[in-house]
Amino acid sequence: MSQIVETLRTLHRIHRQLADLRERMEKGPRQLAAREANISKLSVAADAVSEQAKATRMQVDQKELQLKSSEAKIVELRGKLNTAASNREYQALLEQIAGNEMTNSVLADEILELFERVDGTKATVATAAERLQQAKDELEKSRAAVAEAQQNIERDITRLQGELQETEKLLPSDVMEMYTRTTSSKGDDAMAQVDGVTCTGCFQQITPNRYNDLVLGRVVLCQTCGRLLYLPEDLASAT
Ligand SMILES: [Zn+2]
Repeated sequence: MSQIVETLRTLHRIHRQLADLRERMEKGPRQLAAREANISKLSVAADAVSEQAKATRMQVDQKELQLKSSEAKIVELRGKLNTAASNREYQALLEQIAGNEMTNSVLADEILELFERVDGTKATVATAAERLQQAKDELEKSRAAVAEAQQNIERDITRLQGELQETEKLLPSDVMEMYTRTTSSKGDDAMAQVDGVTCTGCFQQITPNRYNDLVLGRVVLCQTCGRLLYLPEDLASAT
């Protein structure tokens, strides 16, 4: 009967390995999805700083236009000085010129300040673009690595599935029935080793009757969790 115990132990190992492989199979695409989400975030950030830079440059253009038209106005007002009809008109023109010059001086300061900001945004835009590109490069590398890993995992799964089928053939038909029922509902959790008198699946003690049956080499289900139980290797070989 220790042959069955041996078989159950092997089947449990294969089921666990398969479950582990399937989990790894899902992990790759999840990692890629996380990288893609990060790229979307970086792309939004890069667009935002780029828009900001564009807005600053537009402000510069606007202010430069204002400055130009104000300078033209000064030229025009200076031209009128020679044809002023009265001293009062002359004084008024001078005041207007002074006013425009004041405006121009403020505009020139503002333009200078904006130019500094344009320089600053250039660096920010470059950094954001660099980060985005780096993330894209990393995604491509990950894609290749995941694809390769998936291939290996698929190969291992196929091999283990074959091994599983071969091992299942070793089960007597009555045990096979129990095994099929528990594995179809519990998967890799269908079996558990007994540690002392404790089921390692649910950590509850099994009844003395069940333990005796196990020692006698019978196939036993845990009365608490319903897992198929098997003895540890050293005990099983002693029976
Ligand atoms: Zn149990």
